Parts: sequence; structure tokens; C-alpha cells
Amino acid sequence: MSTFGISPRSAAQRRSAPLPPPNRTYHQIRRLIHAACTLAFVALPFTNVMRFDIPNQRFYFFGVELWINEFATVFFALMFLMFVLVAVSMIYGRLYCSYLCPQMIFSEWSQGVERFFARRLNKHFYSWPDARKQWVARISFLSVLTVASIFLAFVFTSYFVAPRDLLQRLASLDLHTAGGITGAVVTLITLLDFTLVRQHFCTTVCPYGYLQGMLGDRNTLLVHYRDPDGACIQCGKCVRICHMDIDIRKGPFQIECIHCGECVDACTDVLRRLGHKTLIHYAWGERGEVLESNAPWYSKLGLRDAKRVVIVLVILAYACALSVAISMRRSMMVQFDPVRTELYKIDEQGRIHNRFRVNLANRSRRGISVKLTTNGLPGATLTLAPNPVAIKADTVSELQFDVIASAVENSTDVNHFQLIAMPDNGERAIPFDSTFIMPLRGEHKP
Ligand code: SF4
Ligand code: SF4
Repeated sequence: MSTFGISPRSAAQRRSAPLPPPNRTYHQIRRLIHAACTLAFVALPFTNVMRFDIPNQRFYFFGVELWINEFATVFFALMFLMFVLVAVSMIYGRLYCSYLCPQMIFSEWSQGVERFFARRLNKHFYSWPDARKQWVARISFLSVLTVASIFLAFVFTSYFVAPRDLLQRLASLDLHTAGGITGAVVTLITLLDFTLVRQHFCTTVCPYGYLQGMLGDRNTLLVHYRDPDGACIQCGKCVRICHMDIDIRKGPFQIECIHCGECVDACTDVLRRLGHKTLIHYAWGERGEVLESNAPWYSKLGLRDAKRVVIVLVILAYACALSVAISMRRSMMVQFDPVRTELYKIDEQGRIHNRFRVNLANRSRRGISVKLTTNGLPGATLTLAPNPVAIKADTVSELQFDVIASAVENSTDVNHFQLIAMPDNGERAIPFDSTFIMPLRGEHKP
């Protein structure tokens, strides 16, 4: 028997087994998604998966180069992206903010870098005075942030200016053209953002955070705190871990809460030591309904009411319209316009001239020749030399020419005919309905 009447064997039996290391599920998921998003953020402009080239007025969407005047396709692409964003917000609340937003990802990264230098200096140079450690940590942090800001500003500006062009401007320290000035300003803003502003941006400037208030409803995914049995031990770990400096116990509708789930991990870790389940959960809507494991698949995906089904159908409709618009897209875009400053001219041989303007846009990556002809105007010729017209890849050419015709038996003052553009790239001919103006009978004196 021991001193207190407990045998050593039974004391050992009572000692609880050591807990396994904390399982920071949501933290790990976020880190993985943040890494994937960072890779995507850097890769998208270089692979032209998504980029809006302002100088050349092009919109790159999943490898397809759209010209800004291709209104239908650009419209469908933008509407598709907008509805995806709305649907994600309506169904999954602020998961975009916490899992996908570059502002949040790089804000957390910069906080991590700052903590890293502070820890390293405290560990390896503990004998230094505090003031010196703080200065060295600050300078190291700012040096890393400056390099990172130049890189991030370069990537961000690449979404709007071709990366190769931007690299040349950077190499020549171009600070006097619009592209160079934009790059320098974005670098400065990025540096200030990730050193001073960080998550304050989300609660002060970002319109998406405010939009959430309008898009969320009783079926939106939120992080909830529920403690019907008074099990909270007031340890405060859920508050300390929060990047947004809030207390989730005050409610799930705080504008600062980005529903990242870090407090869920924190509470899970604390209470498992006492044999309790977490008091903080991901749950649906105002009532905080935790999803049952036997719920149907569509409910598990968040399709919990007709509104959500409709918005998914709208997204599918825009995706179909976009696919059709892209599949019907032609490499050669042709636009004819009559030049009516002078209705017609009559030359020495008595032939009648009407002037036209043609805009030829080659949206492909190789040169195309286009032959222009007419249909429905007997004996008509064009004053266009050479014809076919060669249009270089990715260029627009505007030309003016006369259509020449003579009055025949059936001619009237307004004669309907077609101008036809025939590209040599295998695409079908493009007809354009127009009118050829002739003088009224009696006026025409050859
Ligand atoms: S309260 Fe929780 S879910 Fe909300 S931001 Fe803070 S840690 Fe993330
Ligand atoms: S982590 Fe859990 S137990 Fe600790 S204060 Fe927060 S809610 Fe209460």
C-alpha cells in the first residue's frame, strides 16, 4: 500500500494516456488552399488563363483571347464570374475571404514573417538588448516585404499589362510611362498594405465584406458558438487565435468574422483535454444547424433551398452561353460601313462610284488573307489593290475603297447588294448587306 492508500499500479492506471498532437483541421486545409491559390495567382497572368490586357484591349479567359469589342463573349464571361462569386457568398458565406482572397493570404503571410524574425532573434540572440532585437527584426521584416511587394506588384500588374512588356519596363527602371508609374505605385501600396493595413482592409475598405451582409441568409454557412451546458472554461484561446481580433462567442454575425474556422480548431484542442466536444462549429444559417452525416448530398453541398438551386442553374446557363459564344467565335472579324459624305460619284466613263470603309480584325495567331467581292450588283468591281488583303496576326486594318457599277435595266436609285469577305483560313465567307446609291433616272447623264 502506498502512503495514501493507493497502490502505484492503480495510480498509473488512473493517469490518462497522453493526448495525440492537436488536429488543426481547418488551419491545415487553409494552408493547403492558400498555397494553391498563391500558385494560381502567380501562374494565371503568365499562362493567359485569366488576364485583362488593357494596352491591347484583350480579355484572356481560360486560354481564349477575347477582343474587347466581342461584347457577347466578354459579357457572358463576366456574368459567369460574377454569379459564381455571388453563389459562393450566398451558400458558403465568407469562405472566399478566409480561404481564397489574396489580401487575406498575404496579410497572414506577412504576419507570419514578422513573428518568424521576432522568434529567431529571441532564440539565437537572447543576450541582445530588446531595442536592438526589435530594430533588427523590423529591418529584416521590411527587407523581405520590400522584395515580396515588388514581386507581388509585378504579378498583379501582369493581369493588366503583358508580363514581358512589364519586365522590360522594370529592367529599364521605367518610371515615366503609365505602365512604369503603375508598377511603382502598386509596389508602394502593396508594401504599405502588408506592413500596416493587413486585415483592417477587410473591415474598412473591401466592398465584398459589406456585400456579404446582403447575400447571406438563414441557409448560409457560418461559424457558430453554442454552449447550452455552460461548458466553456473561459480559456480565451478562441480569441487569441483569431486574426481578426474578435470573440466569436459574441455571435456569428460580426462583420469582422471571415469564418476561417481557426477558433473551431482552438476550441476543439482545448476541450478535448477535458473530454468535451468543441463549442464552436461550422453550421448553417441563423439557427446554427450542424449538418447531419445522413443528410442528402445536395444538402451537404449547401443546396438547401430553391434560391440556391436557381442560382446554380443560372451559373450553368451562363457557362453554356459562354461555351456557345466561344465555339462560334471567328478568327476574322469584318465590319463594312458605307461612307456617305458623298452619296455617289460618276466618272468619265459614266460608271457610278460608292465609297465604303472596311475594318478587318485578325484575332488569330497567324496571318490571314481576305478577298473582298460583291454579290447582287451586276458587273460591279472594287478599287482595292491588292485584293486579297493580307492581315497580320493579332492586328486590325482599316481600308477605304470604291464599289463601281453601271446602271443596268433593273437598276433603281437604291440597289440592295452584298459585300462579301472570304478569308483563306477555312472559315466561311462573311456577307454584309448594304445599298448602292445611283442617281435617279434622268439625273444620270453619262
Ligand atoms: S472568430 Fe473564428 S472564424 Fe471568425 S475570424 Fe476569428 S477565428 Fe476566424
Ligand atoms: S476556446 Fe472554447 S472553451 Fe476556450 S474560451 Fe473559447 S469557446 Fe470557451
